Amino acid sequence: MASARIQRWAVILSGFDYTVEYIKGTSNIADGLSRMPHWESCTNVEEYHYIHFIQSNNSIKLSFKDIARETRRDPILAKVSEAIKNGTLSNLKGSEFSAYVSKSQELSIEYECVLWGYRVLVPLKLRKQILHEFHKSHLGIVKTKMLIRSYIWWPAVDKEIEKLINTCIPCQELQPCPEKSFLIPWKPTDTVWSRIHVDFAGPIKNYYLLVVIDSFSKWVEVYKTKEITSTFTINKLREIFCRYGLIDTLVSDNGRQFTSVEFQTFLKNNSVKHILTAPGHPSTNGQAENFVKTIKNHCMQV
Ligand SMILES: [Zn+2]
Repeated sequence: MASARIQRWAVILSGFDYTVEYIKGTSNIADGLSRMPHWESCTNVEEYHYIHFIQSNNSIKLSFKDIARETRRDPILAKVSEAIKNGTLSNLKGSEFSAYVSKSQELSIEYECVLWGYRVLVPLKLRKQILHEFHKSHLGIVKTKMLIRSYIWWPAVDKEIEKLINTCIPCQELQPCPEKSFLIPWKPTDTVWSRIHVDFAGPIKNYYLLVVIDSFSKWVEVYKTKEITSTFTINKLREIFCRYGLIDTLVSDNGRQFTSVEFQTFLKNNSVKHILTAPGHPSTNGQAENFVKTIKNHCMQV
């Protein structure tokens, strides 16, 4: 965005028709006298029409005539405009006028548009259109607010900008992904079949694979099944327990087959502690998850 000084020049110049011509520094030598203020012209300050500024801004396809027309039709702005002309703005009562009354000394009328300083007060009907025009380049909330505040204003404009950007699909798509959660490594176990990690891989050619890994020995058991159920999981775990003995802890994701009453009762009856990995973060089930990936990769290649 241009600096405030450049903007002020733009406001002053917007009332004129002019062409900008570049003059080389060597042929445009400024001496002390040429910089001396000319007191006569300084005291004779011309009144500039700031409303030209909004019209000369190419990003807005609106003329001050559109704004003036809608200002006359806007129930609140029409009254505000009338009150400014009569000098009775501070007499307006009602919460809908409070934002305008608090700026009563700073509001003015130009070409039947209400201005707050250089900023044009936009009537309700044109607000959505103007916001979209300003947000064409999909700047972020802070930059869009800065840009809009330089040209226009209405009560609660900031909230409307935030709402627009928070619901703008192109802006949301470009948002960076949230940072990955920090993974806490599993504590190493001292004995075999103390803690096992369980997960399902698939579907691979219409089958699922139940993967069970012992965290100490990294021994892997894999069982093929057509459907993922608590009963199937329990039956296979029962086989494992018969062969290797009971375990202390079972780690799984929060799939229905692991959280069902049937599965929970089975673990409780065998005094097995159940650790569920964070929902939406299957990678926290470290070993089984890694092995599931390995199995999938190999099965796809077969
Ligand atoms: Zn956007």
